[in-house]
This record gives sequence, structure tokens and C-alpha cells, in this order.
Amino acid sequence: MIQSKLPHVGTTIFTVMSKLAAECGAINLSQGFPDFPIDDKLSELVNAAMRAGHNQYAPMPGLPGLREAIAAKVERLYGFRYDPDTEVTVASGGTQAIFTAIGAVVHPGDEVIIVDPAYDCYSPTVELFGGKPVHVRLGTDMKFDADAVAQAITPKTRMLMINTPHNPAGTILRDADMRRIIEMLRGTDIILLSDEVYEHLVFDGEPHASAINYPELRERAFVIFSFGKVFHTTGWKMGYALAPKEMMTEFRKVHQFNVFSANTPIQHALAAYMKEPANYEAVPSFYQAKRDRFANGMSKSRFKLLPCEGSYFQVADYSAISTEDDMTFAQRVARGFGVATIPLSPFYKEPPMNQRLLRFCFAKQDATLDAAIEKLCRI
Ligand code: GLN
Repeated sequence: MIQSKLPHVGTTIFTVMSKLAAECGAINLSQGFPDFPIDDKLSELVNAAMRAGHNQYAPMPGLPGLREAIAAKVERLYGFRYDPDTEVTVASGGTQAIFTAIGAVVHPGDEVIIVDPAYDCYSPTVELFGGKPVHVRLGTDMKFDADAVAQAITPKTRMLMINTPHNPAGTILRDADMRRIIEMLRGTDIILLSDEVYEHLVFDGEPHASAINYPELRERAFVIFSFGKVFHTTGWKMGYALAPKEMMTEFRKVHQFNVFSANTPIQHALAAYMKEPANYEAVPSFYQAKRDRFANGMSKSRFKLLPCEGSYFQVADYSAISTEDDMTFAQRVARGFGVATIPLSPFYKEPPMNQRLLRFCFAKQDATLDAAIEKLCRI
């Protein structure tokens, strides 16, 4: 008999809800991925790389050209240059980079602070490596609660995981939050894991408060990014991690025996494509228009929308519609009303009592959003 290492873990809610959407023909606003095509230029670049024979292993930390392009883009946006040779590693997606960072530094018994609702890979990954997830919660309106986090710090805390823009909440961290984090980490050897995969999906003209902006944070941080969210290519599973040399050395020790290296032709394509700022600069306004279209349409529904400051997720309260728990309600909305969504409770160690929230992905064509809105307004 196999003794499970993750006895309480089932199949991720994203797979469950996307499968349900397919089964009952529901519009899929559950798992976060765009339903529109990618830029032809990007596909051409991948094809060209394959035809040029770039089909064998890339160097373990990533193609030098891509690491240089990443360092240049990060410097342009956040004013700090990571060394592409020693501080930048290309990963097979943000999730793999998070897994590798945790695996590299979390020892058995180490505590890792996770802020619920939290992206669902965090806690199981910590447990796989013998760490102890310590769960705190976001505060009212899904905003960061610095006091709650500070109180969870103990001499055993090895890592704090933060996420901005936040999935599933759709809120962002701001300068004042980052300053509180600096204070609480000062004088400790706690590592920060800053999941910034939605860096370009920050709305209403606000800046993205990257950990990279703050020397006291970046010198202790793994900062994780994703190409899928920026270039609408979630299925390519491409991302990267940044960290100071000493930390990145440990990261690469794990990375080399986990994936070894990421997809070669796609790395060539991304290196060329990301050099053009126009290819990512339009992303915030593009998604802000979708957020607004969805919010506008949903204002005629009985759902109450929470603030969406970033990411491509809108959280909505359905208390005015039903007292069912969110898993039951989400199933009913998918089967009975034809829209698949994500319930919030799987993102908690212990979901708050009587919380009735669903997450909607608005990374969809306008026609898809309009069709979903029409169905949701009938509930
Ligand atoms: N990041 C996506 C979401 O939040 C899901 C990715 C996945 O299914 N692993 O919906």
C-alpha cells in the first residue's frame, strides 16, 4: 500500500471545474486562461526557431539570450538589474518555479506563512518538503492584513509567501503593504517568495508594487513571473524566477533535477518577442476593459462584486441569491445556468463560516463575457 504524502489533497479545483464545464457545455469562466488567439508574430517566432533547428535541450538555467532579455525588461520596469548569468532562471511555468524555490530552501519543520485565500499549489508544496504551512488570512475586502502576518512570525518561520496581484482575490499589494513587510522581516532570516505572475494586470493606473522595487525585500526574495499571463500563452507553461546569486544557486540545484531546462524553441521566440515593450505595455488597458465590461454587465445581476484591482479574476458574493456552500452553488451554476466558475473555499485551510464567494475569469472574448453575463443575470 502506498502511504500518501498528501492524504488530504484531491484533484485541483481548476481541473475539476474545467472538466465540469466541458461535460455540461458551460461557458468556462473557471480556470484562468484566455479564450482568444495569441499574436501571430509570436507563433511565427516559435515556428521559425523550430525550423532553424533549435529543438534540443536549452542550457539548464535558460537560453542566455532570454535571460538577458528578462534582465533588461525587469530593469526597465523596476529599476534593478539582476545578473542574467547567476540570478535569472527560466522555468516551465510559474508553478514549477514556486515548487523549485520552496524545495530549495524549506527544510523539514520549517514554518512557511501562507495568506489565505492562497493559490492552491502553495500549501501542498510546502508539505511535500516537510515544511509546516502556517495560514493567516487576508482582511476585509480581501486586502492584505499586515498585523495578522506579523503575528504569525516565529523563530521557526523560514518563508513568507506573498502574491500581488492576488489570485484568487483580485486585490493588489501597495507601497504601504510592502513597507510593513520590510519592517516585519527586518532582522530575521526569513525568505520572501513573491508570486508576481500577474505583474502586468494592475488596473486604474496603479503601479505594480514589485518586491524588486525594495532592496531590503529583493535581497531575500525569490520573485516569480509567468509568460503565459502576459502573452496569453498559459498552455506553453513558461515562466522565470529571479533571486540573489546565493539563493539562485540553491534554486538551480533543484531545477536541474526537476525539469533540467525549459522548452527551447519557445525560449528563442520569447527572447525576441519580449524585447519589444509594445508587446506587453497594452496588457493592463486590454484587461481593464474586460474587467469593466464584466462588472458593468454583472451590475444587473444579483451577485455583489468585490473590488478587482488586478489579475484577470473577479470575485463576487452570492449571498443575495443562495445560502448554499460555494462548492454546491458553483456546481449548480455550471449545470443549471451554464457558467463554470471557481468557488473560493478550496483556497483556504479553513474557509470562513458563511462566506459565499465565486471567482470568475474575465480573460475572455467580449462575446464570451456577454454570453456569460446574460446567463448569470438570470440567476
Ligand atoms: N492559474 C490558473 C487559475 O488560477 C490555473 C492554472 C492551473 O490550472 N494550474 O485559474
